[in-house]
Amino acid sequence: MTAANGKNKTRPPRVPMPERPASERVRDFDEVPLGYTADQARVEAGRCLLCKKPQCITGCPVGIDIPGFVKLIVEGKFEEAADRILLVNALPAVCGRVCPQETQCEIKCVLGKKGKPVAIGNLERFVADWKREHGGSPPPPVPEPSGKRIAIVGSGPAGLTCAGELIGSGHAVTVFEALHKTGGVLVYGIPEFRLPKRIVQDEVNRLAARGVEIVTDAVIGKLDTVDELLDEYDAVFIGVGAGAPMFLNIPGENLVGVYSANEYLTRTNLMRAYDREHADTPIMRSQRVAVVGGGNVAMDSARTALRLGAEVVYIVYRRSRVEMPARAAEIHHAEQEGIRFNLLTNPTRILGNDAHWVVGMECLRMELGEPDESGRRRPVPIAGSEFVIDVDTAIIAIGNRPNPIVPQTTPDLRTTAWGTIVADEATGRTMKERVWAGGDIVTGAATVISAMGAGQAAARNIDAYLRSPEPREWKVDS
Ligand SMILES: Cc1cc2nc3c(=O)[nH]c(=O)nc-3n(C[C@H](O)[C@H](O)[C@H](O)COP(=O)(O)OP(=O)(O)OC[C@H]3O[C@@H](n4cnc5c(N)ncnc54)[C@H](O)[C@@H]3O)c2cc1C
Ligand code: SF4
Repeated sequence: MTAANGKNKTRPPRVPMPERPASERVRDFDEVPLGYTADQARVEAGRCLLCKKPQCITGCPVGIDIPGFVKLIVEGKFEEAADRILLVNALPAVCGRVCPQETQCEIKCVLGKKGKPVAIGNLERFVADWKREHGGSPPPPVPEPSGKRIAIVGSGPAGLTCAGELIGSGHAVTVFEALHKTGGVLVYGIPEFRLPKRIVQDEVNRLAARGVEIVTDAVIGKLDTVDELLDEYDAVFIGVGAGAPMFLNIPGENLVGVYSANEYLTRTNLMRAYDREHADTPIMRSQRVAVVGGGNVAMDSARTALRLGAEVVYIVYRRSRVEMPARAAEIHHAEQEGIRFNLLTNPTRILGNDAHWVVGMECLRMELGEPDESGRRRPVPIAGSEFVIDVDTAIIAIGNRPNPIVPQTTPDLRTTAWGTIVADEATGRTMKERVWAGGDIVTGAATVISAMGAGQAAARNIDAYLRSPEPREWKVDS
């Protein structure tokens, strides 16, 4: 086997991502990983075997030509490498930062069988940043206008990807976004220290430069309905996400000092509560915080609370570390920063004082039983194990439900009992003629790249539909 950077069979170890020390980063919102230098990127890219049948691509939901762009890095052609990714991925700087590569492309990399896989995500981030920082070539020209118009509802990764694909196919695209900023969870949820907002904005600007029209402060279902959009547009794509928070339904959840993770993160990120000098968004200046949950949202909330000045921050999670759904790197970062993990612990009650402010969280110890329907071992309460954590703030980060406004205001759109829209997995087609859907509103809360994959698949199907001489009755099987 020959490595991409030479003929030697012994490959260098994986180049670690440089990052700021925990002691320095815990009190500010600046980005934690620093990104590869050009030399580091070329060394890491040189580890790739440029496999003839690259398994890594099979793990990428949008099918990036991974050995193709990695080879260009080895050759020092960084811009070409970025352009290779941009062929199928409109948000490479985002994906390079937040995609769970360790369970997608990297887990399939053959090098992972005997050692560490190629750091595909770190390399993706490097070339995307390089292109942005060096001006880069202008966006590719759009083809002859097709005369067709598509409305996209929601500007998260699903909607933005769909928009990028469709504008590249020559259609006129308008994105309607309920909030005053585009990007969905990328701007209102994921904190600045993991994904700087200017990076999302740059990627949105690139779409706008290609002609995508973006309308913010436009709540579809309130301003116009999907049916009204269908009067004006040839097709509609719904990518409204799963942003409705879930709660524990335990006593005390209405006390002052209890937040949903969504509210806490939106206040901090989108409304810039962390920037006390320039923003007047109120947020609790908590000292002792318990975050309930074990996913990325919980890690983001805990690390945000720390940066807002909390002295002690706990993660309260009812299973063990093995079952935690958060990315391993995020758990590691949280631990490095001093977040305290209360595993196998379930809250039973939030305690308040006479003024209804949170003063504690009563919890039960758990043990793991047999696997449940999710395949994970079921947490079983240990009788009599109650104890109280002394906190002034509780953040509930146990998951999100689909945003209901569009499904509720769109007749003929079939939904599941859970509130997700029924759509064909391969094409995004819903039961309603000329309406497609994708991302978290179809799957429930998932990942950035799966939302992008859904946006891409839907765009390709919309394009085929609009170009077919006799648009067929393309119904989803019931
Ligand atoms: C805090 C947090 C951290 C996460 N971390 C990661 C991570 O590290 N890696 C990862 O892969 N995934 C992560 N995720 C999950 C990931 O962000 C989502 O799966 C992804 O953003 C879903 O994309 P989407 O386009 O379907 O929806 P969203 O990103 O939710 O975007 C939907 C957009 O639609 C808008 N909208 C809603 N209703 C309407 C309406 N009626 N009219 C107009 N617009 C509307 C919303 O305002 C929003 O902008 C995280 C999620 C959260 C909440
Ligand atoms: S599987 Fe790994 S080694 Fe092979 S092409 Fe993909 S990244 Fe390179």
